[in-house]
Amino acid sequence: TWSAVPAGPPDPILGVTEAFKADKDPRKINLGVGAYRDDNGKPYVLGSVKKAEAFLESTNPDKEYLPITGLPEFTKAAAKLAYGADSTPLTTNSVAVTQSISGTGALRIGGAFLSRFYPHSKTIYLPNPSWGNHTPIFRDSGLEVKTYRYFDKKTVGLDFAGLKEDLKSMPVGSIVLLHACAHNPTGVDPTPEQWTEISDLIQEKQLFPFFDMAYQGFASGNTTRDAFAVRHFVSSGQQIALSQSFAKNMGLYGERVGAFSLVTADPEEKARVESQLKIVVRPMYSNPPLHGARIASTILTKEELYKEWEGEVKLMADRIISMRDRLYDNLVSLGTPGEWGHIKSQIGMFSFTGLTQPQTKALAEKAHIYLTADGRISMAGLNGNNIDYFSESVSKVVKG
Ligand code: PMP
Repeated sequence: TWSAVPAGPPDPILGVTEAFKADKDPRKINLGVGAYRDDNGKPYVLGSVKKAEAFLESTNPDKEYLPITGLPEFTKAAAKLAYGADSTPLTTNSVAVTQSISGTGALRIGGAFLSRFYPHSKTIYLPNPSWGNHTPIFRDSGLEVKTYRYFDKKTVGLDFAGLKEDLKSMPVGSIVLLHACAHNPTGVDPTPEQWTEISDLIQEKQLFPFFDMAYQGFASGNTTRDAFAVRHFVSSGQQIALSQSFAKNMGLYGERVGAFSLVTADPEEKARVESQLKIVVRPMYSNPPLHGARIASTILTKEELYKEWEGEVKLMADRIISMRDRLYDNLVSLGTPGEWGHIKSQIGMFSFTGLTQPQTKALAEKAHIYLTADGRISMAGLNGNNIDYFSESVSKVVKG
């Protein structure tokens, strides 16, 4: 029956982990995976998460089904975290929101909803490059996927002029995907001033902004600062779509906790939109998982846990920033040819190093260091024990 099914290509990111696992050298480093590691290279379960779980255990919770749109306390708290408690759409009860299977599920629900109901376009523009899963998610949702200029290889920074030109030439009404903060894979974010210009342009051209916020708090260590772009667009009166993930900022990767929301005109429109979100979700997976949403909502609604969590988000962000500083200092003091300032200026979990494909290949073969072929490294894979070895190895392959 399946003789005509062709073998699919392996996932480019998960393939890196497989190569890493097969390598037996004790010096090996995996910089492919986008998950936080502590300074011993170990996965990190947040203290606030452990306390939330202990608290939940003490309440002897049931295992009943959640409503289709998820745990109400969770979706309310998630929207508050993103938009801000005082934002007009929340104070006027105009945000339609559903719990989702983490960020991926939120994007997929959003794609499916827009494909079914957005009246002005069926085309979504992604930054070039973008997270590798964006294209298949939106294509499978029934949208046509195109790209806009984002990254400038020459400066290893933002191609702001190209980005603006591309926004200006998009057909009126097109959907534009924006990484809210900590752009994956480049680590290059617009400045607040640039965001303001982007927001004005999008509003002028009547484009539809769809924010992917997978790293709130992870970029700067502060969840409010990282919500700048989202809140700026909303306060300028734009009705955005928003995907949220709690994988990174709460370390809840495998619990699959996220939310999808749409800003609508008023509570009546919100109710209609929400009724259709239910109709999108129901045939996909009926209703979302319980445990992770309970953890997140406990942290977001209990003041003491919230404070502890804020500290832990900052700790993770700061450790990553300190690795950027050390990597930069090492590369410069080793006399590595090239300009490395971008290592420090880039934001979030990833850095686009500018290493070429032959160089990344050489790192794997000669130094047992694994990263994606585009030269992206997960900063979280670096730590006090491997940063010097990594810097020396990079320096060697760049010197050739
Ligand atoms: N968007 C971006 C930009 C991401 O980097 C990720 C995770 N790598 C996601 C969304 C979704 O991740 P998850 O489904 O684990 O929340």
